[in-house]
Amino acid sequence: MTQDAICIEGLKKTYAGGKEALKGIDLTVPAGSVFGLLGPNGAGKSTMINILAGLVVKTSGNVRIWGWDQDANPRQSRAAIGVMPQELNLDPFFSPHGALEVQAGLYGVPKAQRKSDEILELVGLSDKRDAYARTLSGGMRRRLLLAKALVHNPQVLVLDEPTAGVDIELRQMLWENVRKLNRERGMTIILTTHYLEEAEEMCDEIAIINHGEKVAQDSTANLLGQLDAKTMIISPESPVATLPAAPGITAHAREDGSIALSYHAKETNAEAVLASVRAADIQIRDVRTEQADLEDVFLALTSSRAG
Ligand code: ADP
Ligand code: MG
Repeated sequence: MTQDAICIEGLKKTYAGGKEALKGIDLTVPAGSVFGLLGPNGAGKSTMINILAGLVVKTSGNVRIWGWDQDANPRQSRAAIGVMPQELNLDPFFSPHGALEVQAGLYGVPKAQRKSDEILELVGLSDKRDAYARTLSGGMRRRLLLAKALVHNPQVLVLDEPTAGVDIELRQMLWENVRKLNRERGMTIILTTHYLEEAEEMCDEIAIINHGEKVAQDSTANLLGQLDAKTMIISPESPVATLPAAPGITAHAREDGSIALSYHAKETNAEAVLASVRAADIQIRDVRTEQADLEDVFLALTSSRAG
């Protein structure tokens, strides 16, 4: 039997003021997975995470966390999830150790079962155990937020943009910790990001949301298979009358006089694209390529859906 760590049905959120941040999302996250929630800024990722965390009240829909219905079993569903928020909201007067003890108290973890020092060790903050939070660097604060999310040993750990604006060293440390928690403790991990490469490297499964709607959910391998779209940009020596044409290549003229040739790397190679340009008698002054980014993915997914 495979259990769902998270099961969301028809989740809607309209903020006071009328912004429809979530327009009816269905989402299941398999237990034991590292799950990526992708989407551009404003897509509704944090709204969804904050509803899971109990920080934002949903407008309608059902949320079950580790089998517990959020409305019927608020205490159990809250205990099953730990959230590292996007915002760096820390009480500046607590030390890391103090902050973890307070958090453990909030979650009703008995003193004998607290693991504050072990958790500080895990996130590499042992030497800052008793320093004031306000003296910590941005990266250390982020690690402390991760530590806080772990005090009640939740089955599901949610990280909202954990690596936005952090340096490579910290990013690597966070990734290692997250992998370790997943592999060694079987913790289900949900992370939001707008970095495609991060999702690619970390996640077993990915859901993409855009404008408050889910536009795709699949294994990372399947999803990335759809994302091998490439574009070659040709700057011609002189204005082009006839665009190149060949199977698997879509050409269009850009306003600056260049020609964009879109193709799928799996089906068509760069040589075939260049050959189509030569066949159209176009003299190449300059050439460069563009990889598909998340933006293209959204366009591809939303347009293929409409079409
Ligand atoms: P993401 O995390 O994907 O960037 P958010 O969930 O933060 O997206 O935001 C989704 C939409 O909801 C955005 O248009 C944002 O401006 C709006 N929004 C977020 N929080 C609030 C709020 N407290 N009040 C009103 N609108 C909000
Ligand atoms: Mg966000």
